Amino acid sequence: PSFSLADIALIGLAVMGQNLILNMNDHGFVVCAFNRTVSKVDDFLANEAKGTKVIGAHSLEEMVSKLKKPRRIILLVKAGNAVDDFINKLVPLLETGDIIIDGGNSEYRDTTRRCKELQEKGILFVGSGVSGGEEGARYGPSLMPGGAKEAWPHIKTIFQSIAAKVGSGEPCCDWVGDEGAGHFVKMVHNGIEYGDMQLICEAYHLMKDVVGMEHDEMSKVFQEWNKTELDSFLIEITANILKFKDSDGKYLLPKIKDSAGQKGTGKWTAISALEYGVPVTLIGEAVFARCLSSLKDERVQASKLLDGPKMTQFSGNKKAFLEDIRKALYASKIISYAQGFMLLRQAAKEFGWTLNYGGIALMWRGGCIIRSVFLGKIKDAFDRNPELQNLLLDDFFKTAVENCQDSWRRVISTGVQIGIPMPCFTTALSFYDGYRHEILPANLIQAQRDYFGAHTYELLSKPGVFIHTNWTGHG
Ligand code: NAP
Repeated sequence: PSFSLADIALIGLAVMGQNLILNMNDHGFVVCAFNRTVSKVDDFLANEAKGTKVIGAHSLEEMVSKLKKPRRIILLVKAGNAVDDFINKLVPLLETGDIIIDGGNSEYRDTTRRCKELQEKGILFVGSGVSGGEEGARYGPSLMPGGAKEAWPHIKTIFQSIAAKVGSGEPCCDWVGDEGAGHFVKMVHNGIEYGDMQLICEAYHLMKDVVGMEHDEMSKVFQEWNKTELDSFLIEITANILKFKDSDGKYLLPKIKDSAGQKGTGKWTAISALEYGVPVTLIGEAVFARCLSSLKDERVQASKLLDGPKMTQFSGNKKAFLEDIRKALYASKIISYAQGFMLLRQAAKEFGWTLNYGGIALMWRGGCIIRSVFLGKIKDAFDRNPELQNLLLDDFFKTAVENCQDSWRRVISTGVQIGIPMPCFTTALSFYDGYRHEILPANLIQAQRDYFGAHTYELLSKPGVFIHTNWTGHG
């Protein structure tokens, strides 16, 4: 009987899956749970899902028979083969128009491939980025669905009701675009997260080693910054981390080994940037900064051998310098997001996707790690001009960077003189200075290439005409 049919099924009862099911249940949807290791279904129903409307299935056949049509099935399993295995098992059980959604951290190219393969079989495939970890899945993640657009009207209500909400209840979930666009956008989100984290680390380094501040004081500064344009989840948790004391009453942070781990999503963003020729320099530097940090033993050795500058003291006005650091962070962050959206634009061009840029900013506005008030400003910029070529060309961001640039340059000069590494602050400024230059020295590169390799060059006065010069006068 139809009253007992579930609205949606979810396969994969690990942390993410369980929490997403409970979230859907809270919003009035009946979910059918399934897992490869079937005993976990009964465990889940008897424990975490006790007293809810969640139902279970002990086989895929049973699960499919318990679903309303068109059937909606979410996979939240380990990315890779597990997804293909389940798809292959599901396809013979499904009908034209049924929907499979992959909510795992799949590679966008796999999602594009699966979309195409399933389209031929009449199944609508959606690859959705899910961000916000366990907590997000339970109480409101950022959801970034893309793929077969015909699926969207059938999943929109569920997706938007379980997603994080911002402002006057706007959901952090909208249709992203075609094929693997949802997973591509999730990947860029993670890259931007690497950048945001590294920028905060550089500010912390300057406060600690240039200004010579104590942890409580730094915590207060981040707390204050969280009331400004920098208002964001990562600034908020940084303030909490800085003041956190271990059981012995001492600050925990300085005891933590300064060697950063990574799971690879930042790296994948940087690889895509290189692949599509987009100068996403800040995320690249953020990934490399983690790589450099992980050479701990080598750095310990080098620290005893390699000299820094003579100047090690900061002699300026502390309060003014802190405001300079804040502005340097803000300006660099604007550059990072401008670069991230450049990568999205290029991917859209490359794959023929139509991307919803304002929607993407809103999806990141809440629920995920990079959530911030700032993303609302990016949404506004794309609302003002959906065709916006670069965030830096929007009046709001243009003015914001201009207002910060003196501070930004002062921070970098001071940091360089004292010998503090600031890979992301500096690469952001170099990008800004490069982007705003009508003439760059690449004319010399072209001449060099032509000199040694006869690669030819174009004259400014004769666009489209490529010529070669015999630079040495020989033969
Ligand atoms: P996970 O540890 O990535 O995956 C465990 C789930 O995958 C279990 O249900 C497991 O079934 C199933 N599975 C693993 N290998 C399988 C295979 N070869 N065939 C069939 N099923 C297989 O779980 P998770 O941390 O909850 O993450 C789920 C997905 O969400 C992943 O893609 C992850 O990258 C993504 N994600 C995670 C987070 C997070 O914060 N954890 C955030 C966003 C996205 P068994 O119980 O039978 O082993």
